[in-house]
Order: sequence, then C-alpha cells, then structure tokens
Amino acid sequence: MKRALAFFLALLVLCFVLPAAGEPAAEDADTLRAFLQEHYGLSVRMGSECYDYALMDYEFKITPEGNTPFQKLLAGNDRFAPLLRLLDDAFSVYPPEFFSRFRTSKYPDGLLILLVDGIENEGVTYGGVETTGNGLLEIILSRTGVDRHTIHHELYHAMEVRILAENKRAFDKWRTLNPRGFSYSQKNSALIGEDQFAEPDDWFAREYSKTFEEEDRATVFEDIMTKDEAWWSTRPHLQKKAEFLLEKISAVFGDLFAGE
Ligand SMILES: [Zn+2]
Repeated sequence: MKRALAFFLALLVLCFVLPAAGEPAAEDADTLRAFLQEHYGLSVRMGSECYDYALMDYEFKITPEGNTPFQKLLAGNDRFAPLLRLLDDAFSVYPPEFFSRFRTSKYPDGLLILLVDGIENEGVTYGGVETTGNGLLEIILSRTGVDRHTIHHELYHAMEVRILAENKRAFDKWRTLNPRGFSYSQKNSALIGEDQFAEPDDWFAREYSKTFEEEDRATVFEDIMTKDEAWWSTRPHLQKKAEFLLEKISAVFGDLFAGE
C-alpha cells in the first residue's frame, strides 16, 4: 500500500514537473526572447524598447500603428511571440558559431535585433539593416509581413557589412555574373506588390533582385537557405552566383553547411 502511494506521489510529481520542462507558454515573449539571446548569442529588443535605438539619422521610422508608446508599454511584449518563434525557426539552420562572427572590435556587441510594430521607408518595408548604432549592427523587423525569407534576407545584408569590413573589394567581380549589357534599375520603389516576387529567369532570383546588386545578393542568399538541390539544378547561372556568394561568406562566417 505504502509503495503504491509512493508510486502515486511520484507520478503526481512527474505530472507537475513535465509541463514546466516543456515549451514556454505560447504567448510568453519574454521567455522566448531570453532563450534566443542565450542560445544564439545576440540581443533582441521589442516594441517600445526599440525607441531608444531609433537614432536621429535613422533611415527607418518606427510606426506606432495608432497606439501610443505608453499604451504599447502597458500591453507588454507578447504580441511579438509569433515573430520570435519565426526568428528561432530561421536561425536554427545556421551553425552554432555563426552568430558569434558578428562580434568584432567595431561591433563588440554583435548583432542586435529590433522587433517593431511597423516600419516606414518609402512605402511598405518589412525589414532593414542599420550600422549607425554605437558599436551595434542592427537588424530591424516588422511584426507583420515578415516570413522566413525576410529573416535570411536581412541577415545576409548584415553579413555583407561584415564581409566588406574584412575585404572591401569582395564583390568587385559580382557584375560579371550578370547577362551582358545588364544594369541594375537603382530604384526600390519601382516594384509594387507581388511583381517583385516573380522569378524572371535563370539569372535573377526575383524581379526585386534587379534593383540593386546588394538586393540581388540578398535574394540569392534567401534561395540558398530555402531551396533544394532539384530547384538549383535547373538554374546554372543563378548557381554561379550562389557559389560566388558562399565563397565570400565562408571566408568570414565559416562553412554554413558544415554540419550537414
Ligand atoms: Zn534587402
């Protein structure tokens, strides 16, 4: 009888312990943030906390979406929980040492991720990269409209800052990978809506890739992180761009696919 009771108690204890050891509550943004910071070795700020980082010369304006900063503060950070989960989802495919490579003498604090309600920058923008902070390399992401592609895309822009800091001529030969006579439109706002996501041909990942060479590289990188071998095998020109990019990336960040 005593043994049965002990077993019952043990079971009861187990029942209480197990849920606590499982996933954090679905909406607990602060727990998710603490995990991301610890696990990946970077910093995350959310909502009204980001106003401190919106410097005078900031390229992006943070949209309060009709609520005052005080109201946002009262509301807490839990509205960012889905975006934090998406960050973890996208970051989890990088090798463990990857994020530490953002820490340098110029950027001793490494990567800072700002999660805001909205961004204004010549119309709709879901993300961006800033390097004007005090020793910080900042990725800013909007709470809505961001998917896994956006995260890889902005991460690439941040990587390029690091690559160019090591070798400012790293991308001098990039344009030789384009068709003869091609030149970038140099206009972000020329593309509206879904057109920017159309896959034009084997030379460019998307219509948007034709705006600036930095965007070309960032969209190729999205595909490096998300498309499979069958997809790449039918795109020999794009594959050359991917190989060029991976060579520059590995010089600073190591082999992205070493663990596979
Ligand atoms: Zn971009």
